[in-house]
Amino acid sequence: MEKTLVIIKPCAIQRSLIGKVIHRFERKGLQICGMKMMQLSDEILMEHYAHLAQRSFFKRIKDSMMITPVIVCCLKGIDAVNIVHAMAGKTNGREAAQGTIRGDFSMSVQENIVHTSDTVENAEMELKRFFSDDEIFEFDQFGLNFLYASDEI
Ligand code: ADP
Repeated sequence: MEKTLVIIKPCAIQRSLIGKVIHRFERKGLQICGMKMMQLSDEILMEHYAHLAQRSFFKRIKDSMMITPVIVCCLKGIDAVNIVHAMAGKTNGREAAQGTIRGDFSMSVQENIVHTSDTVENAEMELKRFFSDDEIFEFDQFGLNFLYASDEI
């Protein structure tokens, strides 16, 4: 099974959407195997958003990610990376499809509720960036036989 990273951003924390966002992943059947609140630093955001370093809004998005602490989650499931990324929707909340997290909760390209890893390689790298090994837990998921067929697990 795959593991992936979700960051619940400050805009969602301030809008009291933590529970609503986490509920979507739980009802889908993803297992939460790590979760904590943390204050992001400029240093970690420089690394996390390195692919945007040349963009004019780089400082603005880093600042917006440090306004409050964030919630980081490690979610586990078959094809978890693609599933969770699809559940977030397109970057711009105004363009994201209804039914996705951004489509349902965001009107903004920047203030778009969640970060989700986009590839398996990035998920592995990002989980290491935000979690230490002992903060990710391996335990049996109750009802696994009702979430998947026996040939899927
Ligand atoms: P995603 O989060 O959908 O993977 P990116 O990695 O391209 O998207 O961008 C990271 C984050 O930077 C976005 O989630 C969004 O908060 C912010 N961002 C991206 N593009 C813009 C933009 N044009 N203006 C303002 N903020 C942006």
